[in-house]
Amino acid sequence: MLTGSCLCGGIQYQYDGEINEISLCHCGQCRKAQGSAFAANAPLLSTQFHIVKGHELLKNYYSSTVKKRVFCANCGSPLYSQRDDKLDVLRLRLGTLDTKITSTPSYHIYCDSKAEWWQINDDLPKFGMMN
Ligand SMILES: [Zn+2]
Ligand SMILES: [Zn+2]
Repeated sequence: MLTGSCLCGGIQYQYDGEINEISLCHCGQCRKAQGSAFAANAPLLSTQFHIVKGHELLKNYYSSTVKKRVFCANCGSPLYSQRDDKLDVLRLRLGTLDTKITSTPSYHIYCDSKAEWWQINDDLPKFGMMN
């Protein structure tokens, strides 16, 4: 079991599964949402993800008509995104994990939207406008 939390600790979650795939997303929305060069996201099975504390602090922002970004209303930590037309999957923001994992990033996506000040210096697969 993996556990994680937001910056203020008001929200805590657990995941009864493993992190197998890590995508580094360079899209403009993720850059804004994280305030960083890219987001490190992992697809999780919704049924195995549980908010164990802080339900009342969860806040949604719809960055498109079908995709919500869920964050802590108190400290602003981005926690995950989820599509209304794909409720079985959520994409965890990996920086919120508290459990140490051995998985490493799988690939880069939305490289076409990458911040011009960031250089990708690894040999992972790089995809453009796909997700
Ligand atoms: Zn918080
Ligand atoms: Zn993105």
